[in-house]
Amino acid sequence: MTDDQTFLSVRGLSVRFRTEDGPVQAVENLSFDLTRGTTLGIVGESGSGKSVTSLSVLGLHDPARTTVEGSIMLDGTELVGASEAVLRGLRGRRMAMVFQDALTALSPYYSVGEQIAETYRRHTGGGRSRSRARAVELLGRVGIPSPERRVDDYPHQFSGGMRQRVMIAMALTCDPELLIADEPTTALDVTVQAQILELLAGLQAEFGTSIVLITHDLGVIAGCADDVLVMYAGRCVEHGPVEEVLTRPQHPYTAGLLRSVPRIRSDVDQPLLPVPGNPPSLLGGLPPGCSFRPRCDSPGLVGSGACGTERPELSGPDGHRAACHLTREQRGALTDLLPLTEI
Ligand code: ADP
Ligand code: MG
Repeated sequence: MTDDQTFLSVRGLSVRFRTEDGPVQAVENLSFDLTRGTTLGIVGESGSGKSVTSLSVLGLHDPARTTVEGSIMLDGTELVGASEAVLRGLRGRRMAMVFQDALTALSPYYSVGEQIAETYRRHTGGGRSRSRARAVELLGRVGIPSPERRVDDYPHQFSGGMRQRVMIAMALTCDPELLIADEPTTALDVTVQAQILELLAGLQAEFGTSIVLITHDLGVIAGCADDVLVMYAGRCVEHGPVEEVLTRPQHPYTAGLLRSVPRIRSDVDQPLLPVPGNPPSLLGGLPPGCSFRPRCDSPGLVGSGACGTERPELSGPDGHRAACHLTREQRGALTDLLPLTEI
């Protein structure tokens, strides 16, 4: 069910690439809604399908090598199968993306002002001086000091954090209603990371922007997201309101990620525990059963019955669902395995 407040609605999204080695099923049967003016966090290890999902929303996959199935509705417009002309009309104005790697996403040959102004001109047909004024305004809005001077600088003249702000400024050029931020803080130190996240929250408060925030760090999700979707090997394994998911995880993978979040408190001697092992290869499709099974450390069920043979469906009450064969009681016990401290 979707209602007026749903800005982005994804249903049964599957994305497959043709590669020289065979088909890669990067995303499978993914569904979520994003309510206007709220933030959905998508979390998962590297390779779990987060970027592929965001590129699908923007319609940026190479159609010659990629099969995209399912539905992506942006405020009532179907994006799957939409023409390039329709997508181009929506990109920038209605939806925009902050790419994972600012240095490769920005051109080294043009000043940041020229790059923002060019985007503005393309979308609005605005003249030279108006586009430049817009670039200065946006650089100021994202917290770059002396924007009227920095507008003529080149990307390499900015620090990592400032470059990420430039990327955000560029994405904001046409005041998009939906902003997809793909690991916007991954390469940054924690102080700068906090500033960038604060910036996104401020934009949302001021402009009612709907945000998809992608990260591999549940600590980032804790402070910023309303809902969270946990991806593993191209699928959603857990989805729900952020407080619910972080305090009562229903999937052993989420519980494992929570155990790997660095603790602030140093008086509690708790080691950082990454989830052991590696995710499965997506080449040629996944084996039957639960794809997390080889890494699952939940007591009781490992190796037994359904885990090895049946793919678990998402299930659970009140919009907090997990794809796991553990019983409700066993899922409840996952909370006991969590660290003592608050996130
Ligand atoms: P992440 O969660 O780290 O953002 P991605 O969404 O980038 O992961 O990638 C998901 C999976 O899809 C990975 O196994 C990746 O190697 C594969 N993949 C991504 N893009 C392509 C592509 N263009 N061609 C083939 N495989 C791809
Ligand atoms: Mg990625």
